[in-house]
Order: sequence, then C-alpha cells, then structure tokens
Amino acid sequence: RELVSPDADGEERQIEAALRPKRLAEFIGQARVREQLSLVLESALRRQRPPDHVLMNGSPGLGKTTLAMIIAAELSAPLRITSGPALERAGDLAAILSTLGEGEVLFIDEIHRMARPAEEMLYMAMEDFRVDIVVGKGPGATAIPLDIAPFTLVGATTRAGLLPAPLRDRFGFTAHMDFYETGELEQVLRRSAALLAVELPDDAANEIARRSRGTPRIANRLLRRVRDYADVRAGGVVDRAVAARALELYEVDGEGLDRLDRAVLGALLRKFGGGPVGLSTLAVSVGEEPETVEVVAEPFLVRQGLIARTPRGRVATAAAWTHLGMTPPPDAFG
Ligand code: ATP
Repeated sequence: RELVSPDADGEERQIEAALRPKRLAEFIGQARVREQLSLVLESALRRQRPPDHVLMNGSPGLGKTTLAMIIAAELSAPLRITSGPALERAGDLAAILSTLGEGEVLFIDEIHRMARPAEEMLYMAMEDFRVDIVVGKGPGATAIPLDIAPFTLVGATTRAGLLPAPLRDRFGFTAHMDFYETGELEQVLRRSAALLAVELPDDAANEIARRSRGTPRIANRLLRRVRDYADVRAGGVVDRAVAARALELYEVDGEGLDRLDRAVLGALLRKFGGGPVGLSTLAVSVGEEPETVEVVAEPFLVRQGLIARTPRGRVATAAAWTHLGMTPPPDAFG
C-alpha cells in the first residue's frame, strides 16, 4: 500500500483506535466544526432529545469516524457503525434501524455508496422515525409500517455532491472538514508521540507535519515510519534530519506529495502541456480510477495551489512547473 494513501487497512485501524481522541475537547483543529457540533450536542442534551442528523463531508483520514465516535460519547449514547457499501438491500438497513435503541447514534460511512432502495428507506426513517417493511413480491407485496426509536444519523462522505438532494436535505447540519494546518498536525503528532512513547522534538514534528498532506491519518502513519527508521538506523533518536531522511526513503517529498500526486502532476505537465485536460483522461494516463484521482490526489493538489479546476478541465499552475523543476511552455499562462 502507498505510505501516504489516506485510506487505512485493517491493521492500521487497530493502531488508529488507540490514537483516537475520545472527547470533543481532545479533538485537534477543525475549530469551526467543533464549535458548531458542540452547540448542536449541548442543546440536544439540554432538551433531552436526540440531536439533528449530522452529515460530515471531507477527504479520507480527516477524522470523520473519530467525530462520529465523539458524538456518541458526548451524548453518552451507544454507537452503531455501518457503511454505504454494506447496505445493498433495504432489508440490510431495516435490520439495523429496527433494533436501534432510543437516542442511539447510527454512523454510516461512505453514505454516498448506499444502494437506492436502502436510501429511500432512510429518507422516511430520518424524517418520521418510521419505515415500511415490504413483505412478499409482485402484486401480492404489502408494506408493513414499523415505528423505530428516535435516533441520530451521522453520515460521512468524501463526495457530498453525489448525495441525492432529498437525502442531503434531511441532515440538520453539515460539517465541512478541511485539510489541517501544519501547526494543527504538529499537535496531532505530539499527542500521538506521547501515546506511542516516542520522543519527538518540535522541529521533527514540524518536518513530519509539513509532509502529511494536511491529514492526521497520514501524520500518524509517517510518525510510525520515522520511529522505525530512528530505531533501526539512528539509535532510536528522532530529530529533524532523521525525519527528513526517513520520509525521503518512503518517497514523500518536501510538500508531502506522494507517488500518485507526482504521477498526476507529471502527466498533466508532460503529456498534456499543463492542460486543460479532463479528469478521466488524466486518470487513465496514470493508470488509476478517476474516482481515486478525484478523491485522493486532486483535493490536495488543488489545496496546495498546484492544479486548478476550470470549466475546460484541470490545469497546472506556475507552482506546479516549479515543483517538478520544469519550465512551462512560453504561452502557458496566456
Ligand atoms: P475514513 O473516512 O477514511 O475512515 P476518517 O475521516 O473517518 O477517514 P478517522 O478514521 O476518524 O478518519 O481518523 C484517522 C486517524 O487520524 C485516527 O487515528 C485519528 O485518531 C486521527 N485523527 C483524525 N482527526 C484527528 C484530530 N482532529 N485530532 C487527533 N487525531 C485525529
């Protein structure tokens, strides 16, 4: 797997669990989201009612699952976790909804990937705390209405634009998760280092933070690779130079671009003269799915000011040419 892939695999999930902040006050960064959420939660607690449904939108690894767990913890409510792809049939969702207790929090990750029939069942459940269970098939099918306990849905998506409007409208509040600033990632790293018993000087934390693609999951992963490197090659001592050497070894560059980022940028410059080029064409040229390029590489490259989205396609900025040490064609910027 790619070192800077924002997705986590099974083993990493276990390590992540140990590093997750448990309460809102421990959650670093995302100041606006934290404030919005704390108001929603506090007022629900005062009214002794489950809060409105919450949608979280943002790139992978920014803390959506962590926040869902925090919401449940702050409400002292149980949390049920599922994901869009696991809800293939309406029955899959009905089985969960019908066994929710009052005030429970249901977290649906990748909610944009839920199958249509389940989605339609969810509309009614969110709005009226009721579902229709369809029994039988064809003309003899009957819908049996079933009340469900008032619950709070927390949905997470990397692509809010793909959610049908009726679903989006049923959330009381959408938390927009942004990439983290370097200083915030330094805090994440210091906290994780303490939990992992790694001594992390400030300049080393800065070196790792700068290369973490604005993403706590990647920061935590790079920290573990730096620790490995320090253990094996540097007598267990982490400093800025050790961090930089370790990250170079893993092909993470000074701005945190990984191989996929550099491949996308390189293709945009070398094969398409800096663009404009359509996303699918660009993805094909680096042998990736368009969705991977759109969800994983592009948001970060746009945020770094290396590529821009225009109505005619993706274009490289002057900074992109500089980053790859190339000279743009004379007519590149009009
Ligand atoms: P995905 O959608 O891919 O599951 P996610 O957005 O749900 O990603 P999380 O699993 O919540 O991301 O977070 C990934 C890791 O980053 C976790 O180990 C978590 O501890 C850490 N993390 C995320 N946000 C923060 C934060 N604000 N402060 C400290 N650690 C964080």
